[in-house]
Amino acid sequence: MNTSYSALDTFLSCPLKYKFREIDKIKVPKSSTLSFGSLIHKTLKFIHESDSDFPSKEEVVNFFSENWNPAVFKEEEADNLFENGISLVSNYLEKILAMEAKKMGTVIALEKRFILPFGKHTISGSIDRIDKIGDSFKIIDYKTNRKIATENEVKNNLQLSIYLKAFTNEWPSFFKNKKDLEKVELALYFVRHNLEVSVKKTIKEMELMEEEMMKNIDLLEETIKSDSFEPRMSPLCDWCDYRRECPMFAHQFRSVKDPEKEFEVMDATLKFIQLKNEKGRIEKEIRDLDKKIKIYMENEKLGQFFTENGSVIRALRETYKYNPSLVLDSLKDWGVDPALVVKVEASKLKQIASKLSAEKRKELESFKELEKTSHFLSVRKAKKIKI
Ligand code: SF4
Repeated sequence: MNTSYSALDTFLSCPLKYKFREIDKIKVPKSSTLSFGSLIHKTLKFIHESDSDFPSKEEVVNFFSENWNPAVFKEEEADNLFENGISLVSNYLEKILAMEAKKMGTVIALEKRFILPFGKHTISGSIDRIDKIGDSFKIIDYKTNRKIATENEVKNNLQLSIYLKAFTNEWPSFFKNKKDLEKVELALYFVRHNLEVSVKKTIKEMELMEEEMMKNIDLLEETIKSDSFEPRMSPLCDWCDYRRECPMFAHQFRSVKDPEKEFEVMDATLKFIQLKNEKGRIEKEIRDLDKKIKIYMENEKLGQFFTENGSVIRALRETYKYNPSLVLDSLKDWGVDPALVVKVEASKLKQIASKLSAEKRKELESFKELEKTSHFLSVRKAKKIKI
C-alpha cells in the first residue's frame, strides 16, 4: 500500500483518528497550533532559500508578518503568538548566521519530498532540511513543541529513521558501503528553544526500525481491509479535531433524545463513580489495618484475636505452582488436549483433574511445587448467645 509518514503516524497514535482523517476525509478547520507551526516552517524555509546571502532580520520579520493571518487564532492568544513567532524566527536567523560564520555546513535540501519503497509498500514524506558538513550529513526536522525530546526519544524517533532511509535511497552515491550510514546525524530542532537534539543510528538499529515499520504498515493494511478502527485514548485526545465524531467524547456534544432516560443514567453514573471512589478508599484502609493487625499478631505469636464483634484469625496460605513441562506431557499421554491449558494454572488444572481418575489426579499432584507461603486474615463473627 502507499501511505505517507504523517498518515501512518496518525494511525499509530489512534486508528480511529486515521479513519476520520484519511478515509472519511472529515474536514476540520486547521488548528491554531498547526497554523502557527506551518508559518514557522515556511519562514525558516524563506531564511535558507534566499538566492545569495541570508535575508536580514527585518526581511525575515516582514515575511513572517505578511504571512500572518490573525483570523485563524483566538483573539486572546493572537498577540502573544505573533510576538512569540517573531522572536522564534529572529533567534533562528541569529543562530544560522553564527553557524555560517563558523562555516559549520551547507544546506543541500529544504522540504525535500520523497517516495520510499518499503518492501511491497511505499511511504512518502518531506524532510525539512538536510545539511552537508564536511563529508558528513545532518537530517533535520523542525519541531514547534514546547517539550524538548530526550536523546533516547530522538534515537527511537521513527520519523527521522525513515528520513535517513529515504535519504540513502535518494542519494545512493553518498552511501557506497553500509558503514556510510553512520556518518549521518539525525536531529530534531526545537525552534521554541533554539535547540537541537541529535543522534546517529547504527546499521543494526536501522534494520530493527525497518522491521518495525514493515509490521506497522502491514497492520495498517490489515486494519483497512477489516475496517476495524478502534479509538485509542491518550493525552493527545485533548487536541484531537474529531472529538465530536469519536464515541469516546461524543457524549459531550450530542443532543439528548430521551432526557428522562439520560437523567436516570446520569444519576446511576454519579453513584457508580462515588461508590468506586469509596471502594478504593475502603480497600486501602483494609490493607493498612490488615498489615497492622498481622504484625501485632505475629509479634505476639497469636493465631486468633478476639473482640466483642467477633475475632480475626491469622492463617497460613500456601501457593503452589505446577511444573509446566511435566504437566503438559502427562496431559497429552492421558488424552487431554494441552491447548485447553494456556498457562499451567492451579485453578484450570483443578477443573481438569476433577475429570481424571484418582490415580492420575495423584500423579498430577506430584507435579506440584510449593511456590510461596504467606499469612492472611479471616474474620469470624461473634456467636449469638441464645438466652
Ligand atoms: S478523541 Fe482520542 S480516541 Fe477519539 S479519535 Fe481522537 S485521538 Fe482517537
